[in-house]
Amino acid sequence: MSGECNNIWEEACKQLKGILSGDIYERWIAVIKCQSSQGNRMELVVANDFYKDWLEENYLPMIRKSVTVVSGREMDILLDVDSSCFELVKEKESPPEPAPHLSIPAFGLGKQKPSHNLNPHYTFDSYVVGSANQFAHAAALAAANSPSRTYNPLFIYGGVGLGKTHLMQAIGNHVAAKKPRSKLCYITCESFTNEYIEALQNNSVSAFRKKYRKIDMLMIDDIQFLDGKARLQEEFFHTFNTLFENHKQIIMTSDRTPSEMAGLAPRLISRFEWGLVTELGQPDVETRTAILRKKAELLHLDISLDLLDYLAERVSSNIRSLEGALIRVATYMSLTNRKLDVQQVETLLHDLLDKESQATISVELIQRTVADHFDLRPSDLTGKKRSKDIVWPRQIAMYLSRTMTTQSFPVIGEAFCRNHATILYAHEQVSARAKDDRSLQQTLSILKDKVGKNCSKALR
Ligand code: ADP
Ligand code: MG
Repeated sequence: MSGECNNIWEEACKQLKGILSGDIYERWIAVIKCQSSQGNRMELVVANDFYKDWLEENYLPMIRKSVTVVSGREMDILLDVDSSCFELVKEKESPPEPAPHLSIPAFGLGKQKPSHNLNPHYTFDSYVVGSANQFAHAAALAAANSPSRTYNPLFIYGGVGLGKTHLMQAIGNHVAAKKPRSKLCYITCESFTNEYIEALQNNSVSAFRKKYRKIDMLMIDDIQFLDGKARLQEEFFHTFNTLFENHKQIIMTSDRTPSEMAGLAPRLISRFEWGLVTELGQPDVETRTAILRKKAELLHLDISLDLLDYLAERVSSNIRSLEGALIRVATYMSLTNRKLDVQQVETLLHDLLDKESQATISVELIQRTVADHFDLRPSDLTGKKRSKDIVWPRQIAMYLSRTMTTQSFPVIGEAFCRNHATILYAHEQVSARAKDDRSLQQTLSILKDKVGKNCSKALR
């Protein structure tokens, strides 16, 4: 380790220690080592992928900021895994333990290793319930209290950063606490795929199968990764059947419903719908405020309620961005020792806030996209004509406006020159038909993609 590396990193650690609670600092920052620092680049290493993923998702902006402030120049931080750097320490502290099945190293040296790879912070306690997630939350709690006896499988879907992984792992943590002997497995569908491919290469498919078919609860994250991968689907189909037949709980998350996965085999779609398919919607401003307050409390951040309310109001696209904004404000305040007012926060977060206001999908964008798809004019959707070829696309546009934006029924009503009851009715009609009309499901999926694409086009 170079001298500069040593100094900057040590100084940055001091800053971070001041910002984060002791527990969080010990758990997530003290486990990082500085490998090298050259020019504007600093390379940090951790012992395994779990630390890397978690740090990247939660603390990297904060780390980058502290290093930049300490070194007096904009620094690029590279975070890598290098277990060899940590082995020596482990050997000194405790004799090596046999690696438990399906496990990753513990969170703090000296603590007992958990027999699962769940993030300990993703619990029901830290999960804020609001109107957009109360049903999914209730289902998750029911599954956690009596695995495989309520909803099996439990399929949770929703957009990026809306809390799918958190809710799924909350189930796992709950079961792990109540039944420590349960064999739990949390895995992303991508890792599952990689493991399977590796097993194929190494002729160890039967070991792979054994491993996944003898667990008590399988939590598989971002299952939409299976979409369009026939061979993998075949493999997963058998794992699913074995677990299901043995009354083992299966939980899946996805960014879309099973039927919206156009490249998923029908037998898997039907299996995924056997239990309960439940949605995590976009949280309203009250829920966002509650989440921020909880987060600020958990991280012991000294930020005024006014400022938290302001952030909750301004960052609405997803909870991950909301947390990012909070961390940025907290880091700035702590590093500069200054309180910020709303105006200063606006300047500090201008890039994020600009993106927020542009990235928001509007009813008008949905109207344009749907009209274009059905070869109509947007004015046909807001006009009075009642011919069938207009009424149905209009109802679809109303449905999408409700599901893809955070607007209320009356506000959407205004955009369509109608009252809220008409929008409510359209929403019910389309939802009911979408339940078993495969072609409508696919149309909705295509339209959602188009709306998303048009939205990001507008950003460029
Ligand atoms: P997804 O898997 O849907 O992309 P995550 O579960 O990773 O989203 O959630 C993103 C971040 O938002 C996480 O840090 C998570 O703890 C937080 N989060 C999401 N929903 C809630 C909630 N209802 N209450 C508290 N925190 C939440
Ligand atoms: Mg996730």
